[in-house]
Amino acid sequence: MNAEIISVGTEIVLGQIVNTNAPLLARQLATLGIAADCQLAIPDRHDLMVDAIRAAWRRSSLVFVCGGLGPTADDVTLAAVAEAVGTGLTVDQQHWQWIQETFAERHQAMMPENIQQAKYLTGGSPLKNAVGLALGSWYERDGHRLVVLPGPPREFKPMVVQEVMPRLTKVVRQHVQITSRTLNFFSRPESQLMNEIAAVTADLTGVTITSYVQPDAIQVRLTVRDQLQDVASKLLDAAQDAIVKKEEPFFFGVGDDCRLANVVVDLLRKRNLRVTAAESLTGGMFQSTICSVPGASNVFDGGFVTYAAAAKEQLLGIDPQLIEKHGVVSAETAAQMAEKSRGKLGVDVGLGFTGVAGPDSLEGQPAGTVWIGLAIAGRPTQTRLCRFGAYRGRQAIRQRSVQTGLQMLYR
Ligand code: ATP
Ligand code: MG
Repeated sequence: MNAEIISVGTEIVLGQIVNTNAPLLARQLATLGIAADCQLAIPDRHDLMVDAIRAAWRRSSLVFVCGGLGPTADDVTLAAVAEAVGTGLTVDQQHWQWIQETFAERHQAMMPENIQQAKYLTGGSPLKNAVGLALGSWYERDGHRLVVLPGPPREFKPMVVQEVMPRLTKVVRQHVQITSRTLNFFSRPESQLMNEIAAVTADLTGVTITSYVQPDAIQVRLTVRDQLQDVASKLLDAAQDAIVKKEEPFFFGVGDDCRLANVVVDLLRKRNLRVTAAESLTGGMFQSTICSVPGASNVFDGGFVTYAAAAKEQLLGIDPQLIEKHGVVSAETAAQMAEKSRGKLGVDVGLGFTGVAGPDSLEGQPAGTVWIGLAIAGRPTQTRLCRFGAYRGRQAIRQRSVQTGLQMLYR
């Protein structure tokens, strides 16, 4: 939590009195680990005060405005604070009653302006002043707090110690030091994803957004520091909503441990679909990935590893002429692998993986060229061409093929 202290008083600015209140308050705050990062002195001028308070309220979670709560015309603090944070002033009737009785007891003439000292910020709460007439104010909204205190040191100090510190101690205890949430995406260049995310979260101050590239996902971590628990949750929710709205087609789940394979198996189970695959360059890696998910048996019975063309013909019954005509790395072969595997096992979904894992090229196609077929009962078979790039190396090309197959299933 960071604090700002605004000391109000023309006599402070002119150097006629020494500001003892701000250092006293700063020392007290430091005992709670709160740094008073910014301290300002301004004269009793409404316009300057409104500007200063607005700026402090925007950038800091805790703002103190000290001085200028008297009944005289030069005491304009409360009105300025109310305007700056967009609220009104409320009369504490009990305190107003007490002020009137106090004047009556002393046989002093009370001025109508004395009612100023019974006012506090609407929507906030009054702070008791045991040795003076003017109430203080405690006001909070959207995770920001503002405290208004009277200037005379004999009133200021006891109010800091007796009213402010106990409340702040509670607030500090409710604060979470750091909390974060991870969103998982696929199929996007990291820099493009992060640029788009930055654009839709520009207004959300207080959330730090970082990214990590995992073999099977781009993880985007949202972090909030030093906030109240419920404010932190609200900030994370707002950031997640904005990001997911923008990146919906690429988003697949929340959490550090969220894996696309688990999400896909869960989705297939919910839709009551069974899946199989015929794998060439991936050599069973897709099926192994599905089997790594607990509960895979709900969606997977078995499948095919058909590495050589002959195996594609013998195990799946793919027409040798089709392979001859289109090549083994082709949309046609991938589609046939998907359809035949599905048909052989009589399940709902079949995938076919065929491509060049490298390092050498094949049929004039560079390493990294992969066709994936997806056959779903009652729908036209889809195929997708991937060019993962030879430079990635054999294992990464195979892994990316599996991930792309999972992505095709996720939709
Ligand atoms: P009052 O009803 O006495 O006017 P107030 O809340 O309006 O109370 P100010 O008018 O700001 O307070 O200050 C009253 C007097 O308190 C000042 O003249 C000064 O002597 C003292 N004072 C105010 N602020 C400070 C400060 N920051 N440090 C030291 N003394 C201060
Ligand atoms: Mg005054």
